[in-house]
Amino acid sequence: MSFSLYGIGVSRGIAIGRAHLISHTSFEVAHYEIPPARVDAEIARFDAALAVVRDELQNLSKNAPASAAPEFGAFVNLHLMILNDPMLALTPRELIARQQCNAEWALKQQMDSLLEEFERIEDSYLRERGADVTQVVERVLKALLGQPVSMPKAQARAKDVILVARDLSPADVIVFRHQAFAGFITDLGGATSHTAILARSMNIASVVALHHAWELVREDEMLIVDGTQGAVIVNPDKSILAEYRLKQDQWDIERQRLRRLRTTKAQTLCGVPIDLQANIESPDEVDEVQQSGATGIGLYRSEFLFLGRADLPDEDEQFEAYRGVAEALKPHPVTIRTLDLGADKALNGQTASGPNPALGLRAIRYCLAEPPLFNTQLRAILRASAFGKVHLLLPMLSSFTELNQSLDMIEAAKQQLRDEKIAFDDHIAVGGMVEVPAAALSLPAFVERLDFLSIGTNDLIQYTLAIDRTDDSVAYLYNPLHPAVLWLVAHTIRTANRAKIPVAVCGEMAGDVNLTRLLLGFGLTQFSMHPAQLPAVKQRVLQTGLAHARNAARRILSAQDPDKIQLLLERLNA
Ligand code: PEP
Ligand code: MG
Repeated sequence: MSFSLYGIGVSRGIAIGRAHLISHTSFEVAHYEIPPARVDAEIARFDAALAVVRDELQNLSKNAPASAAPEFGAFVNLHLMILNDPMLALTPRELIARQQCNAEWALKQQMDSLLEEFERIEDSYLRERGADVTQVVERVLKALLGQPVSMPKAQARAKDVILVARDLSPADVIVFRHQAFAGFITDLGGATSHTAILARSMNIASVVALHHAWELVREDEMLIVDGTQGAVIVNPDKSILAEYRLKQDQWDIERQRLRRLRTTKAQTLCGVPIDLQANIESPDEVDEVQQSGATGIGLYRSEFLFLGRADLPDEDEQFEAYRGVAEALKPHPVTIRTLDLGADKALNGQTASGPNPALGLRAIRYCLAEPPLFNTQLRAILRASAFGKVHLLLPMLSSFTELNQSLDMIEAAKQQLRDEKIAFDDHIAVGGMVEVPAAALSLPAFVERLDFLSIGTNDLIQYTLAIDRTDDSVAYLYNPLHPAVLWLVAHTIRTANRAKIPVAVCGEMAGDVNLTRLLLGFGLTQFSMHPAQLPAVKQRVLQTGLAHARNAARRILSAQDPDKIQLLLERLNA
């Protein structure tokens, strides 16, 4: 039976392929094959999850709350014993290797067979210990949840696989990016979650916030994913399939046509040059950046080097990654954003911390709370600055104190390198992201101490409108055209221009062609976006007269009614 589902399209284009269901929540465990070459990595993923739970339990045992019942210690120790028992710690490893299956599935199978044995025990006390095994397994599954899942099927088949998941973490997608697959759909998620951003950077058609895809779609069913319209067609009939194959070809032709603009200089109709730069998440994207004709990297999300792995990259590994990008882009700038960990980007199998992760220890807050981690990264970035034009960008600043602490840490890292006689660019430009309303409303303090600003509209919208960008239940409120958002963006651009310091927009608004003229009208001359979006934005820049854009932007800024804003924007884009 054919039917359609509707959600939010997060990455344009059309994908056609067979459904593969993946999951990691609790006991709703997916089963998929691990290619032989990835079996060791899958075992390492399992071991890392065990290590996380071991740490959790040891911490619990050491720091038992004063109010805890006397049995608390014994109970935690029992769980530690269960965890360390070879039946749980070793047998699943053997299953992963023997059956070439994913870690969650191996663990679930082993739990089921242990529980069967417990069921047969006559002594009721011992029989009830089966519940403890279940609890320990649940903890390990949760730890696996924070770790990337492996690629579902043999690589040969992956090209036409469409992943169907309740949710995918950015760490999952980072692992998948090295494999070929056609698209993904999820029940949860928002348009600017980091998972969606990664999908866009990989040019993979995807739709999120479908709510019931996981329950309604069956393994191996034929799917059409229309990332432009936010629709998924399940079991399409022949004529619909043919229609979408045609649309897919037209989309590819349009993309190739736009690619011809690669070497055309980006400037407005009146001749004002506009700097179009690229956002990347990993050094592998450098080729694509160069193909897109970008004049630099305006946002390198460095934290992705830390995701999807059990260990932390050391200073040399980070330095090599940054140096490679800086050298490849030379003489163009590469803006390396310091770690934006926390919220939906958890480290090493940790799940998001705090009652409200988006408002918790994230980005610069996280780095300032972990000075050795921050220092290592700052040293690596500074060392890379000797090999190209590197800019350093601080995420999520919200107070002058945070800015000063960060600048002090940069100075301390510089001093270490001087003492060690290691080369770096002493004049490295240091910028700050404006993505918290508090920063946008206290710009003079930031402008005074920073060399440039970059507006992170994804978070600026999230924090201005008080909606979690990853939560699909409030996704309908996520509105870049909200008057408060437009005011903060326009105000930041105006203030930076007056202070004569460069300002860019590097959030998703920069890559949305419908907003290009509006941002130009606000006085923006530097945009940073996914390389795939760059040619279309360039085409729009080439067709824009600044005087007209400025007038229209002024009118839009003074409007409050959403319908009127929409109408004025449509007129501006006509
Ligand atoms: C933003 O918030 O707009 C931004 C560019 O940063 P990220 O999407 O990585 O949070
Ligand atoms: Mg951000």
